[in-house]
Amino acid sequence: MLVQQILKAKDGDGVITVKPDTLVSDAAQILAERRIGGVVVSSDGEKPNGILSERDIVRSLAMRGATCMDDKVSDLMTRNPVCCNRQDTSDAVLSRMTDGRFRHMPVVDDGKLVGIVTIGDVVKARLQELSMEKSALEGMIMGH
Ligand code: AMP
Repeated sequence: MLVQQILKAKDGDGVITVKPDTLVSDAAQILAERRIGGVVVSSDGEKPNGILSERDIVRSLAMRGATCMDDKVSDLMTRNPVCCNRQDTSDAVLSRMTDGRFRHMPVVDDGKLVGIVTIGDVVKARLQELSMEKSALEGMIMGH
């Protein structure tokens, strides 16, 4: 399955971005309200400059305490996130996420942000694919 098929299957209103100078407390509010684990950080809404995950916030809270909530997102984000494009396969994305130990991947087309896939989206797509393959194989064995 390709990333573009995973994006099509996702409902919701696309990818949520915040600007680098957004306060961490405001970004945390967005994560909580939207029930998501990460946001893409972009100064122009097109090129991903970084990614801020709930893990970055938790790490900073543990190391420095609640004052990190007054920091800017650019202080905590991971710069130059690993991205994929619409034509990448779900397997390739899954192995990059597993190797890099992260669960979010911005999707870019011509350097512009067009979506985000999470490890949950990729696993869901892969399970659907396996279920369809199983049904097809059972059909062949049963002679349907
Ligand atoms: P996650 O598992 O995605 O919540 O993130 C775990 C850590 O990896 C955090 O420090 C994130 O900032 C970082 N991270 C998340 N997504 C990416 C990505 N696509 N490329 C590089 N780092 C990432």
